This record gives sequence, C-alpha cells and structure tokens, in this order.
Amino acid sequence: RTVYVNGEYLPEEDAKISIFDRGFLMADAVYEVTSVLDGKLIDFEGHAVRLKRSLDELDMAEPCSKEELLEIHRKLVEVNGIVEGLVYLQVTRGSDGDRDFVFPSEDTPPSIVLFTQNKPGLADSPAAKKGAKIISIEDIRWGRRDIKTVQLLYPSMGKMMAKKAGCDDAWLVEDGHVTEGTSNNAYFVKDGVIVTRPLSNDILHGITRKAVLRMAAEAQLKVEERLFTIEEAQGADEAFTTSASAFVMPVVEIDGVALGNGTPGPIATRLREIYLEESLKAAI
Ligand code: PLP
Repeated sequence: RTVYVNGEYLPEEDAKISIFDRGFLMADAVYEVTSVLDGKLIDFEGHAVRLKRSLDELDMAEPCSKEELLEIHRKLVEVNGIVEGLVYLQVTRGSDGDRDFVFPSEDTPPSIVLFTQNKPGLADSPAAKKGAKIISIEDIRWGRRDIKTVQLLYPSMGKMMAKKAGCDDAWLVEDGHVTEGTSNNAYFVKDGVIVTRPLSNDILHGITRKAVLRMAAEAQLKVEERLFTIEEAQGADEAFTTSASAFVMPVVEIDGVALGNGTPGPIATRLREIYLEESLKAAI
C-alpha cells in the first residue's frame, strides 16, 4: 500500500513518525474517515469542513489546503486501486522533539498521515442485511465529543464488551439518555417518527447524520431531535445507526430485546438505499 506522510507518498513500511509526536504520546490529534464507492469519495466536502472545525477547536494549524487534501485523497485511491473502501486521515499537533504538557511553539508543523483501506462489499454489506445487535454501556468519555479526536480507547473497549456479549456494537448512555454509538450516531423509529439526540458537545456531529436527516425530510419522514432512553428504543418499531464507514446500519436488538420482528426495519432499509444512491450520485 502507498501511504501519505507529511508531504510524501511512500510504501507503508517506509512511513515514519517521531516517537515524540503528540498524536502518539497524548492523543493530541484529530481524524476523518471518508468512504470510497465506485472509486469516488463520499461527502469529501463534509469531512473537510468538520476537519477544519476540529482543528480550530483545538487551536491546531491546518496542515494543507482543502484542494491539496482532495488531491491527496484522490491520488491514494488511484495508486492503491480502491474501488470500495476508506481513506483515513489524521492530523496531529506534531512535536518539537520532547515530551511536554505545554503545546509546542506555534511554528511547529502539524503531522499529517493518510492511508487507504480496501473494503470490497462495503455497500452491499451482509452485516447490514442482518442488522446489528447492541448492548448499552455507560458513557464515560470526555465532554468534547463534538471534536473528532483520536481518543478512541473507551469506544474500542465498548466494542470489545459488545463482542464478548455476542453482540456487534454498544450504545453509550449518560444521565439515563443515549448519547451515540461507539463509532456512529443512534436513532430509533416509533409510529413512523425518527428520533435522535440533538447536536451538542455530547456527541459527534456526524456527516452521515446530517445527510440522512436531510434525505429523511425530503422523503417526508418525520424527525424529532430529542433525548431518549434505552427503554424507549427497546420499545421502538425499529432502530439504526449512521456513520461514514457503515452508512445506515439497521439495529435489530438492544440489550437482549428484539425490535419489531428482529430483522432490519423498513425505514432503516429505505434510508440506507436512499443514502447510498444519493451520496454516490454526489461523490467526487
Ligand atoms: N459518533 C462517533 C463517536 C463516531 O466515532 C462517528 C464516526 O466515526 C460517528 C458518530 C458518525 O459520524 P460520521 O457519520 O461523520 O462518520
């Protein structure tokens, strides 16, 4: 695989980052994951805008322009022959060659790394046909989940807890209400109304969430942005999650309670189809 590190395209085994890089030592880094379908980037603009916001919120410098970023994405997709897959992008605060809690001086260049992941069958996914089984766990993450940082240890532990319980993923619960999934936004559907938590610092402002809510409105589906509990979601007709890498993923079970008849619901299935069709049309 060819990867991109700080201005260079290299074979992955030749790519190097300093051991003093703050991304490595302190998770002082932000990231984006952009899907590739049919060799094209899904919602690149959305990811570029959110990356800028994450960098601004952390007083981190932009490593390059949006145009350069697009060019790097496209080149990696091309040289690695990605038809269906992902482009991972990470920007860190870099390093001035030592470990210190104080940020390095402003002229310290950020580090930027991009690589591709080949995922044949990403759109026509067997997992989406089956639907996901979810467990709920306490949300003990920090209070700025709207910034897409690489602090992914707890979400990763949550996924492992789900696997151990024979499930696929976990929804996080804070003060009795669902925040989001480990790596996705969470929704349920009751009597034709789609319910999801409103945007705040408590959740990531999903690129896919924004697109899917727009498409739901265009399809005359009702959407309510409000807090909800696990119990309410368990009593729903159906549920689903959204993310840039899994699109719309139906949820068929929450903490051992099957939703509807235990198979992907009609609204989740329809939204997945609409999302894939529309975002592929707009892909660049
Ligand atoms: N919430 C969390 C915690 C995530 O990590 C992600 C994606 O990585 C999402 C939500 C979904 O966001 P997006 O649709 O932009 O991928």
